[in-house]
Amino acid sequence: MEATQAVKTLKNYINGEWQAPSSDRVEDVINPATGEVIGKIAFSTKEDTERAIDAARQAFDSGVWADATTHERAAVLLKIADLIEAEAEELAKAETIDNGKILAEAEFDVADAATCFRYYAGIIMHPDGETYHVPDNVQAMVVKEPVGVTGLIVPWNFPILMSVWKLAPALAAGNAIVYKPSEVTPMNAQRLFEIFEEAGVPHGVVNMVVGDGPTVGQTISESHEVDMVSFTGSTAVGREIMKAAAGNLKKISLELGGKSPNIVFADADLETAVDYGLFGIFFGSGQVCSAGSRILVEESIYDRYVERFAERAQLIKVGPGLDPTSNMGAIVSEKQLNRILDYIEIGKSEGARLVAGGKRVVDNNLDKGFFIEPTVFADCTPEMRIVREEIFGPVVTIQKFSTEEEAIRLANDTDYGLAGGVFSGDGAKALRVIKKVRAGITWVNDYHPTYVEAPWGGYKQSGIGRSLGKYSLEEFQEVKQINIRLSVEPNGWFPAE
Ligand code: NAP
Ligand code: MG
Repeated sequence: MEATQAVKTLKNYINGEWQAPSSDRVEDVINPATGEVIGKIAFSTKEDTERAIDAARQAFDSGVWADATTHERAAVLLKIADLIEAEAEELAKAETIDNGKILAEAEFDVADAATCFRYYAGIIMHPDGETYHVPDNVQAMVVKEPVGVTGLIVPWNFPILMSVWKLAPALAAGNAIVYKPSEVTPMNAQRLFEIFEEAGVPHGVVNMVVGDGPTVGQTISESHEVDMVSFTGSTAVGREIMKAAAGNLKKISLELGGKSPNIVFADADLETAVDYGLFGIFFGSGQVCSAGSRILVEESIYDRYVERFAERAQLIKVGPGLDPTSNMGAIVSEKQLNRILDYIEIGKSEGARLVAGGKRVVDNNLDKGFFIEPTVFADCTPEMRIVREEIFGPVVTIQKFSTEEEAIRLANDTDYGLAGGVFSGDGAKALRVIKKVRAGITWVNDYHPTYVEAPWGGYKQSGIGRSLGKYSLEEFQEVKQINIRLSVEPNGWFPAE
């Protein structure tokens, strides 16, 4: 459907200038709640991308940002945070229109984005070096330096937040940046880069290239002028990036997919465990890498849990993100919608018991957008594809276990290791079990909330490295030792005559 008013065609931001991508390929950006065209995205070429990389290289090598004092960098980051906050409402609304999530979620994302810039403005003001007392009358010290030109590639599920999780620490550490938003949700990125300009980030330090993964993303990942690539997205693309990065052995940080277990013991508070079970999977319409997509329930409460969970899943009102009565928003795109519907069919054909949802939502004009009912499969078994593969939608599987050992074994029976939760009234057992879950982001009697201070990332095929906290700053830094001899004289190892 064509929108009646003129829509904006996104541009690249290269070396401080807004430039139209040089290719003729232009596609619509869609509001997934209505199917309306909300923008146009031109697909940048390899040459456009290389121009952005060159700009970043020159800006980095000039030292304009890398050599700025931490006071100077922090001041810019704080200004960015203020500017984001000043237009939080507009940014949240734009995020909802682009991605489909409900406004309350988008508001959290925008608030967290401002917090993230403030956090990194603060952390770089702390001392970050080390000194060592070593032999030979040498003073040894360790200093941190920016990595150089960093390529940042992000997905569509949290467009602004996933971008800021990379942009804030990369900038704080003094790097130059070539950033690529997802082609599916690129709208807020333009505003974010205007904010960078307003806040005084020097030209060439942050560059944005709009376009697709196989061209723009691949060029960034392969380029020998790029020193590091930080990627959030699927495990399949993460693997491609790792291969492409091998050419110049660039540093990589990969935040990938998940299939995270949420373990419920019989001694848990049932209503709390059901409540967080729903929140774990249906928040963000399940398009969340850390979603608690595999619920494991102890057999003595299994039937009650399933019944109550299905009952409450059916109470979730699916609808447009801008409608304040909606509890769960749209799926990001038609492609993703069809992928999820396919998985629902696979679940049925594998013999899982569908106890709630299972269909596309089409009533009340929702057929123009992409909506799916909160979908619950019970009596799932470990070999089912719906249990093994990341669906990335509002579809949860429930399995039964009978012992603590079995719960741990089932929880870890996955190629992924991003997140996990345990619900129990027995504190010692909960801690014992969560420590055995092979995942980087975990909760006890809780699911989903995380904080900018703490490391975000996965074990196994959920990624390499950690976002957020001091960990992310360190990923965007190189570490150098400097040894200074305190007595300037020859060491005489080789003959002098
Ligand atoms: P995706 O298909 O892997 O895409 C992610 C980004 O990579 C997009 O910008 C995409 O570009 C780009 N890309 C695609 N092919 C590429 C290539 N060959 N080289 C370089 N870049 C390439 O993931 P998505 O569908 O957007 O997002 C969903 C996935 O992200 C899920 O698997 C989810 O678990 C994961 N995720 C993980 C985290 C985490 O923190 N661990 C957080 C959020 C999401 P275009 O799409 O624009 O072509
Ligand atoms: Mg969109």
